[in-house]
Amino acid sequence: MTRPIAKSANVAARTRRRQGSWSPLRSALIVALLLTCVFSLPTIVDAARSVLPARGPVADTTPGQVAGQVTLSGVQPGACLSFPAGDGHSSKTVFIDPGHGGLDPGVVGVTGGHQVLEKDVALGVGTRLATLLRDGGYRVVMSRTKDSSVMELGPSDTIAGALTASAEHRDLLMRAACANAGAASVLVSIHFDAFDDPAVGGTETFYDAERPFAAENRRLATDLQTALVAGLGTTNRGVWTDDQLAAPTLTASGSLYGHLIELGPPAAGWVDNPSQMPGALVEPLFLTNAAEASLASSSSGQQRVAAALKTGVEKYLGHP
Ligand SMILES: [Zn+2]
Repeated sequence: MTRPIAKSANVAARTRRRQGSWSPLRSALIVALLLTCVFSLPTIVDAARSVLPARGPVADTTPGQVAGQVTLSGVQPGACLSFPAGDGHSSKTVFIDPGHGGLDPGVVGVTGGHQVLEKDVALGVGTRLATLLRDGGYRVVMSRTKDSSVMELGPSDTIAGALTASAEHRDLLMRAACANAGAASVLVSIHFDAFDDPAVGGTETFYDAERPFAAENRRLATDLQTALVAGLGTTNRGVWTDDQLAAPTLTASGSLYGHLIELGPPAAGWVDNPSQMPGALVEPLFLTNAAEASLASSSSGQQRVAAALKTGVEKYLGHP
């Protein structure tokens, strides 16, 4: 029986990789685990970045000049933008959150001698999904349209070229705030997976089971997961609740919280203003699996992921 890859029982304790200990002969893959993916410890990948050439997003598919700024203070330029439906008559809004960005690369894989950064793949898929959904009659709000964080960063938000834990926390809160301010009907957070064993691959999707709309969360997650597995032909690793991530999070508060910040319930002082619409976090492919990283880094692969997500969203929302 398959289990979520990030369930603590399945994941060995992780040590931070230091620059001196990394060798290109040691492995073709640079591994940062799902927990890094979700909670981001960018220092892990600094060593890798210094060794291999970075590869940017496959294509600039930022959906055009028609963007409007969602009213929300404290966001970066290019963050929290709204895009009208192609026909201009949409009634439902989809919030698309490409995970990570800027100083936070997310997980890092390698294929064909190039790094594959989760933040780039997520943005490539997210912008393609935005175009598909707008063409399908939906309004779209994107948490970010550039290689940046969502929250505007201050001097105290970075240390040694990486986001602080506090900044990562507030950046995730800002994404939920953007979804709320954008009056989204549904939230789709796009991430990609990683694991120590490069043979591991497949698709998994997370939702929160403790919200008033938990049944809707589950239905959304299931629709997205089903469409992804069908569209990509990947191993179905299943739909899981976010508490099953069981993450050894960055702070005591996060550990006590036990949910994804973007999806989870309110918790005083940690998540004061949670997302107010059904949401799910997808992990369509493993960037530490060479074949899946190759697919994820290609334009055609990102289009396939986006098309599958559109199918899942449409199944969930019905016709716009
Ligand atoms: Zn991630």
